[in-house]
Amino acid sequence: MDERQLNTLKTLLEKPKKIAVIPHRNPDGDAMGSTLALQFFLEKLGHSVTVISPNSFPHFLDWLPKSENVVLFDQENKKANQLLEQADIIFTLDFNSFSRTGKEMQSVLEKINTTFIMIDHHQQPDDYAEFMFNKTNTSSTCELVYEFIHLLNKPNLIDKAIATCLYAGVMTDTGSFRFPSTSSNTHRMIAHLIDEGADNSLIHQNIFDTKSPDQLKLLGTALNNLHILKEYQTAYISLSQQELDEHHYKKGDTEGIVNYGLSLQGIIFAVIFIENQEEEIIKISFRSKGDFDVNTFARENFNGGGHKNAAGGRSFKSLHHTISDFEELLKKYSKQLKIKA
Ligand code: 5GP
Ligand code: MN
Repeated sequence: MDERQLNTLKTLLEKPKKIAVIPHRNPDGDAMGSTLALQFFLEKLGHSVTVISPNSFPHFLDWLPKSENVVLFDQENKKANQLLEQADIIFTLDFNSFSRTGKEMQSVLEKINTTFIMIDHHQQPDDYAEFMFNKTNTSSTCELVYEFIHLLNKPNLIDKAIATCLYAGVMTDTGSFRFPSTSSNTHRMIAHLIDEGADNSLIHQNIFDTKSPDQLKLLGTALNNLHILKEYQTAYISLSQQELDEHHYKKGDTEGIVNYGLSLQGIIFAVIFIENQEEEIIKISFRSKGDFDVNTFARENFNGGGHKNAAGGRSFKSLHHTISDFEELLKKYSKQLKIKA
């Protein structure tokens, strides 16, 4: 966004508007934290704002302020459609392609003729937005919302609710401030958020220390399924639908499991394959350390994308076939995977 666009945007936001704010489908901490924080900020500017999520969010985020007011597109379709059609402005946060909202919401968004504003940190954005605030080297969309608030010269509007939501999103997207995308700017921002009332220890507990016994046992099953391909510095984990059912799986229960692969010495590429019989897909998460680019890997092979060191994708084959395809594919990438991180 250049100076001229910023001024146009400032003028646009001078008068009260009807605004919808949208995270991606299956929203994570960054998607929920950034949309709610932006909602509170825009409300303070006098706008009428609704967060519309394509579908539900995991239970470990249900303590976020006002998360109970989020409209779920798949469950409250009529209301969501009405709000979208009436919106003067639609902000899309933490994604950069309508396809990331799911097929049905995508087709609605494609037909709507309004002003779209993108705030996002993923690579290769589509060009649906009139205003784009996207930086791929930033830790999280929450950090970009924080910058956006500063661009509008309104940091004094950051209150406890905004600080809490932004803190939660940055924390979850940076693996608690340890991924390389965590910068000194991130830490300066975090210090400010704590000053404004974000309770860092409580936020951490709300997100990480609210597990059920089933969830911990599911982690045990996942770790038992760990498969190491030492020659490719790769580790993968799989969870079948049956294993999920046995542990009464709820959305969010598998969050973070993929990272255990990367905690092994000598592993630079970690993957988890999760069977989803209802959607007839295998949901895949990719994580890497160093130069191995999982965004490209996910785009080229598994209908996905994301960032260099964290990406997602899906396969339409069986779990067994997906894994054998994956093992076969590694040969093609052997040069990159044998380079020490
Ligand atoms: P996860 O593995 O946690 O689902 O996703 C890891 C990262 O990749 C997140 O930043 C997520 O938003 C992104 N991501 C996941 N799936 C896709 C996808 O299908 N396309 C794109 N472009 N990004 C994805
Ligand atoms: Mn994000």
